Amino acid sequence: MSDPVIVLQANGLHRTYAEGPLSVPVLKGIDLTVRAGEMLAIVGASGSGKSTLLQLMGGLDRPDQGEVLLAGAAFSRLGETARGHWRNRHLGFVYQAHHLLPEFSAEDNVAMPLLIRGVAHRAARQQAQQILAQVGLAARAAHRPAELSGGERQRVAIARAIVTRPAVVLADEPTGNLDSQSSEGVFEAMQALNQSLGTAIVLVTHDRQLAARMGRLLTMRDGLLHA
Ligand code: ADP
Ligand code: MG
Repeated sequence: MSDPVIVLQANGLHRTYAEGPLSVPVLKGIDLTVRAGEMLAIVGASGSGKSTLLQLMGGLDRPDQGEVLLAGAAFSRLGETARGHWRNRHLGFVYQAHHLLPEFSAEDNVAMPLLIRGVAHRAARQQAQQILAQVGLAARAAHRPAELSGGERQRVAIARAIVTRPAVVLADEPTGNLDSQSSEGVFEAMQALNQSLGTAIVLVTHDRQLAARMGRLLTMRDGLLHA
């Protein structure tokens, strides 16, 4: 059997922030390989550099040293515009705050990335409905974010991140504001989409119990990832 396809790879990532006269090394040579369809959890103390790593992996920031490969391209070496296009095509993001558009329904929020890409309205709505059904929100499609619970909003955010069929979704503490029951719903939504669409998911979380249920678990410590 051949190895599963590598969709996202970090090679020797270093990132140091300047804090006044001090320089604070946060990432000290991170190597990470994400394979197609895998579910990977990253845990670690607050301030250990998890969000910094996701930003570099997602091309929102650039490493001081090292490189990120996404879907076969040396992503981190691309210029701003090309990086933006490559990111939109191959990555989805979910954050602790949902960032849904408050004036739009769940369905419209999920359809939005498709409409922006020029997918016809009808097809975009159909795909949005399908994904919402998979995260258990078929009956909530017409609701606006304010009419949904915190857990439901995060499931909509996940649906929106995945509707364009990215190779990887990067999720930075998506359950950070949720109670354990809502977190469970969000986890199950990610799992369902991972299984039906084969999207790889990288989940940064404080929740060790959720993390332990992912396919692979890494810990960020002293600027490096440990198995
Ligand atoms: P985590 O997500 O694991 O809590 P972060 O990646 O957010 O950790 O932060 C890691 C360290 O880098 C922290 O000490 C934080 O204060 C620092 N840091 C993060 N972003 C910046 C920034 N833009 N400028 C300066 N320091 C930063
Ligand atoms: Mg963080």
